[in-house]
Amino acid sequence: MAVRVIPKNLCMRKMVCEYCDMKLETVKDIVILRLFGIRTCDEHVKCGIRDVEAYLHENNYVNINTVSLDHKLSPFIDMIAKPDFTFSESFNGIHEKGWKLLVDPTEFTYIIKRNMQWCIPAYLPSKGDQMYMSLINLINGDPTSNTIVDNAIKTLEKGIYIDSYNASCGLAEKPPLSDDPKLIETIMHNGVPVRCVRNM
Ligand SMILES: [Zn+2]
Repeated sequence: MAVRVIPKNLCMRKMVCEYCDMKLETVKDIVILRLFGIRTCDEHVKCGIRDVEAYLHENNYVNINTVSLDHKLSPFIDMIAKPDFTFSESFNGIHEKGWKLLVDPTEFTYIIKRNMQWCIPAYLPSKGDQMYMSLINLINGDPTSNTIVDNAIKTLEKGIYIDSYNASCGLAEKPPLSDDPKLIETIMHNGVPVRCVRNM
């Protein structure tokens, strides 16, 4: 029976597929952040991607590193990721130029929705300031880039993971695997007690 798995913290969990409970050395993690996601066998990778994308859809997150090159959002990502692309922000009457996309080095750079507006992580190199900035800020005098931003907002509103969401939300939710306490043990490491997975 097809089930849905909700992403979770993968730290200290058994190396088993969360769909079929198979214990395999080859299981892989479909992650949203480091050690947060779904663990699957080869056979259930597609289910893992579907359920991770459904979770991102529900929480209004879009990972710019995993958008395919032929996706409608791709021209927007290409534009904001260019090293020389900057935008400006007015805050308390002060107009500041030179804001850039803040890229996460671990490939978890997310466009998010905040206060009903889609935003990108941004930073101002001259001051080191960081903030989530609305896509509206990227609309400037240039008609070509304005069209790209407009199209991106429409695409994000439709939901880039909508197909995965629709496929996932009709499925019964699989109860999380219970951590087997026999698999977890406390050992001393450098004089400090640490919890670890027992080698079986
Ligand atoms: Zn499996």
